[in-house]
Amino acid sequence: MLARFRPYFRYLRPVRGKLIAAIILGAICGIASGAGIPAMVKWIFQPFFEATGAARLDTSSLIALLSVIPAVFGVRCLAQFLNSYLVAFCGTIVLEGLRTDLFAKFQRLPLGYFQKSRSGELLSRAVSDAQQAQLTLTGSANDLVVLPVTFLGSIGYIAYVAATEPGAGMFLLGLGVVPVCVLPIRFIGKNLFRRAQHAYAANGDVSELLRENLSAAREVRAFGLEEREKARFAAGVQRFFKLQMKMNKYAFALSPLIEFITGFGIAGALFVAYRAHTPWSSVISILPALYFCYDAMRKMGKLQTELTRGSAALDRLDHVLLEPEPIADPAQPKTLVRARGEIEFRTVSFTYGGAGAEEVVLREVSAHIPAGSVCALVGPSGAGKSTFANLVPRFYDATAGAVLVDGIDVRDLRLGELRGNIAVVSQDSFLFNDTIYNNLLLGRAGATRAEVEQAARDASAHAFIASFPQGYDTMVGERGTSLSGGQRQRIALARAFLRNAPILILDEATSALDSESEAAIQKALQKLVIGKTVLIIAHRFSTLRDASMILVFDRGRIIAQGPHAEVYKINPLYRGLYDQQQIG
Ligand code: ATP
Repeated sequence: MLARFRPYFRYLRPVRGKLIAAIILGAICGIASGAGIPAMVKWIFQPFFEATGAARLDTSSLIALLSVIPAVFGVRCLAQFLNSYLVAFCGTIVLEGLRTDLFAKFQRLPLGYFQKSRSGELLSRAVSDAQQAQLTLTGSANDLVVLPVTFLGSIGYIAYVAATEPGAGMFLLGLGVVPVCVLPIRFIGKNLFRRAQHAYAANGDVSELLRENLSAAREVRAFGLEEREKARFAAGVQRFFKLQMKMNKYAFALSPLIEFITGFGIAGALFVAYRAHTPWSSVISILPALYFCYDAMRKMGKLQTELTRGSAALDRLDHVLLEPEPIADPAQPKTLVRARGEIEFRTVSFTYGGAGAEEVVLREVSAHIPAGSVCALVGPSGAGKSTFANLVPRFYDATAGAVLVDGIDVRDLRLGELRGNIAVVSQDSFLFNDTIYNNLLLGRAGATRAEVEQAARDASAHAFIASFPQGYDTMVGERGTSLSGGQRQRIALARAFLRNAPILILDEATSALDSESEAAIQKALQKLVIGKTVLIIAHRFSTLRDASMILVFDRGRIIAQGPHAEVYKINPLYRGLYDQQQIG
């Protein structure tokens, strides 16, 4: 079981010193409990009760004798406090490390991973499972030392008394129940693991329900889905409750079960001691030693519970942390500082499910887009246009064939370098809950105020931004909700303008604009595209007027390519789509 945790102990490395101090303090607390308290009972209570008549203790001796009690308790309590504090400190560092690593991993995982996972569920892994793993790691690192010390301290004390006092040896028989305790530990551990897994998964489901509901607040109201949503959430919460209680049943059963078994040990030990006429002074000091021995045993059972729960949580963290990162920097990257912008697709095939998946989205697509050209991707919905464009910045990798920028396979370039040469504007561009200015600055960190404003002017955004009372310092709200769709899109365009990358991908980037702003953007685009390679996807053909090249997509294939006049002449699909819009 412990081997399972070994890779995660690295999170404790930065706080090694504090953890060792915590463990030493825990051990002191353990010895003070397991051996100190029983010894204290013996050394104090014996003269306390046995001193009679003239031998009775005077006040000062009595105070001196009794002051041992607060002294032993003091050492134990101080050690316990410092131990708990330091363990909590180390735990917070572990949690921080775990969450930071998870977050960093989320940044590296391919887009496809987020499409197959549910974000609320991932959130629950980063929050609840990381917390459970933290509790287990720090708790177990500490208890693994403290509990055996307490256990051995008390057994040592019992053995000492047994060896030095007549009749006390029988008490060693009281330890006979210890091996019996292993049985429930094993049985419960096995059952608990499965139940913990189910409960944590159900917790993830609840997070996902919550996230989905919060992000669809508008749709819920518009379609009157409140009752349905409440019922769905109640069912999710109830399922989590049931599974959690099943887990708790096992988690909480172990400790009392061990305590119950140890009851037989104490009764048995007393039975034997009585029959052996063991002096009461030995009995009275051995009883706390037995108690601490059993208590340590009980806590070790609890530790096993904790390890099991932690291991179920680690499984869920591993699921993210060990996920392969197929889209990563190559081992020996080629360099591309500023691309000319030439793009080539060499017999590229692509499926979203990876090689072997059923739906082939792109089939042996080949195209050569010269640097500095404006290339329009045209075709019916679902034909594969966005997918084609997404392969250039390596949002996905081709399943077969190769995508090249400036003659270099994109997989041979550092991701940062490749993506630094590309600006992407999509239909639903994301704005962070920050000021307009900072959202624009994401296009190019370090741009000057004048450059930011110029980019906003080019994207026809300056006028509406300036009309806000707080201008560029206006907060855009969560996901930019305090702005209109067209305003959001213009900010996204301005951001791309600011980036000034040699390759620009516009995926339905002007779909939310009215004709007036679209006309303005068209003018801006004409300026922007000079010297750049542009891939433009738009259903409105007015946007495609300036394209120097058209790629016509149909069911994952490029069925025609060339300048508008040529493609219009030879390709009925394109002609049909074009004519339809001219009439419309
Ligand atoms: P539209 O003009 O409607 O945006 P498109 O030509 O851009 O369509 P794509 O978005 O590239 O088409 O989609 C091509 C095919 O791939 C579609 O059948 C779509 O269902 C599928 N698809 C798109 N994105 C994914 C995804 N993330 N996972 C699985 N399949 C996807």
